[in-house]
Parts: sequence; structure tokens; C-alpha cells
Amino acid sequence: MTAARSLTTIGELSAAGLVPEEKQAGMAAVAARYAVAVTPALVSLIDGGDPEDPIARQFIPDAAELTTLPEERADPIGDLAHSPVEGIVHRYPDRVLLKAVHVCPVYCRFCFRREMVGPEGLGTLSAKALDTAIGYIAGRPEIWEVILTGGDPLVLSPRRLQAIMERLSAVPHVKVVRFHTRVPVVDPARIDAALVEALKASGKATYLALHANHPREFTAEARAAIARIVDAGIAMISQTVLLRGVNDDAAVLADLMRTFVENRIKPYYLHHPDLAPGTAHFRLTLAEGSALVESLRGRISGLCQPAYILDIPGGHGKVRADSMAVEEADDGCFRLRDFRGMTHVYPPEEGAV
Ligand code: SF4
Repeated sequence: MTAARSLTTIGELSAAGLVPEEKQAGMAAVAARYAVAVTPALVSLIDGGDPEDPIARQFIPDAAELTTLPEERADPIGDLAHSPVEGIVHRYPDRVLLKAVHVCPVYCRFCFRREMVGPEGLGTLSAKALDTAIGYIAGRPEIWEVILTGGDPLVLSPRRLQAIMERLSAVPHVKVVRFHTRVPVVDPARIDAALVEALKASGKATYLALHANHPREFTAEARAAIARIVDAGIAMISQTVLLRGVNDDAAVLADLMRTFVENRIKPYYLHHPDLAPGTAHFRLTLAEGSALVESLRGRISGLCQPAYILDIPGGHGKVRADSMAVEEADDGCFRLRDFRGMTHVYPPEEGAV
């Protein structure tokens, strides 16, 4: 099946044969709650005859999303608690997130910012808000790295991206600009010469973190798009979310990490899934995740090993999920030590921040 444009309603997904009739009502309720978009590249990739298809599972709504557990929260990694001005998240001293846009080419069913992204989400920063955000960065010499995320920053036009990069170029203490995106795999044709050029900033190192979760996402078109980026001198790293029914299998993960490296992308983060609302059906336990990551050691080259990361709920930063900073307690919960030395219970109690 191919599609001329992105599918954004259950009716369109049904017409494309991607929603069984008996599931339409439940999915419509999900679509009324959370954004839906599946690009033509992904529509072609989904095997409609496979009820367990790992691509469909990431993008086609599921009635299970209507179940929200007490420990799940609208802002699982605490962006809002660390947002001094609109569009900026300043969690760690030397780096900030710059969230210029809250739109994505696709809407992942497990998204950790699902309450912020989409047509009903936080939108795109106004020119005035962007001025304030860049002013915040320019006024703080400790900010060494700016991470453009969102939403997906690569939905912005090359002209707008270039304008942001030119402004960051003028800030001497910013040395690195990093983009987090899914575009090279979900809409590879978008990666053209103008967009690649717009990602560069004079005197700064550009990194691009590609979010991909299954080796099948690396089609010939996606591989060519990645090559255009790397050939332009932009370094690429990976991020993957560990997801039940998508990549919770040592052979699939090994294949995915090798595929990143074969495409000149250094595996970076393997995220334990966040406590986003309606995503319990994707979550593994920390013990299951750790066992999978352990099984990768020795199985694949050191070059292919990602860091297994948990974002501590409430905005307390990341912790290596397979490190000494994570301890299982007698009550079956875990104690997580954040980068400031504070301890947090995981999963958190209802209402805890
Ligand atoms: S691309 Fe990122 S921000 Fe957008 S829906 Fe997927 S996980 Fe969420």
C-alpha cells in the first residue's frame, strides 16, 4: 500500500487497510485524545497482514492508549518544571533544549511528549518567543550545547532552520548544536540539499540524533537520506526507545544497533520507556530491560553498544539504568540516584514529583 500524503484520521487509516473494522471505534476514541499521523514512507512499510507488525505498533493507534495508570503523567520527564522561558528546557548546567516546534511528521504511540505535540499541542514558537529563548541562551555563558527538539525540528523549512542556526552561530559560548529527529526514516525525501545545508552553523559542530526503533525503518531511501547528512560532515548518533512488541528482543536490538553503525551512526541512547499516559502496553520492567541490554554485550561490537538510559520522572535528569545509580529495593521498587546525588523511588508514587 502506498499513500500520496500522510494519513491523519482513522477513516484514512481504514481506507488504507491498516485498521481492522472491529477496532475502529476504540481507535477513534484514541484519535480524539492523541494526535495521529503516518507518513507515506511508513504506510508502504507496514505489513497490514501482520497483526504484530513492529512498524504498525509504533504508529497505528491502539485502544490500550485509553488506559492511564496512576504513575503515568502528562509531563513524564518534567520539561515544564525546568522551563525558565517558553521553548527552553534548562535541566543541566551546560546545555538546554530549544523546542521551536511541537509538530511531528508522525505521532509515535508511546511519545513522552504526547500531551504537548500535535495539532492541538503547544504549537510553534512565535518570533517574539524565539527572540526571548535565544536571548536566554546568549545571556548564559555556561550553555555549551543547544539541543533542538520538540516536536521534530526538521519539519521546519530550511529557511527557518537556517535563521535559527545563524542566530546560534552568533553566540560564542555555544559550541555544539544537536537536532533530535525522526525525519530521515519517516520522510526521507525531505532530507534534500537545502535542508542539509541549513543544519550547519559557522564555527559550530552539528550533531543529528536519529530516533529509530526497528531495523526495518532503514529502507533504501532512508539510508540514502542518512548518507546525504553524514557526507555533508554532520555527525550522527542514535536514540531508540525500548518497546514491548517492537524491539524487546536481543536479535532485533543487535540488528538495529549494527544497522546504525553500518550507516555511520554511533549508537547513543537506548531509552527505557517513559511514564507517558496510555503507554503501559509498551513498557518493560527495568529488570527485563537490563537483561536485554546485558545480552548485547559480547554479541555485538563495542561500537554498537548504546547506553541504557532512564529519565527520572519529574525532571531529575537521566540515569544509566544498568548502573550502580539504580538499586532494587525489598519492596520491588527501585531507588534511582540522580546526577545531583538525590534519590528517587521508581516507579514514583502517585502525585510524587
Ligand atoms: S517524533 Fe518524537 S516528539 Fe514526535 S511523536 Fe515521536 S517521540 Fe513524540
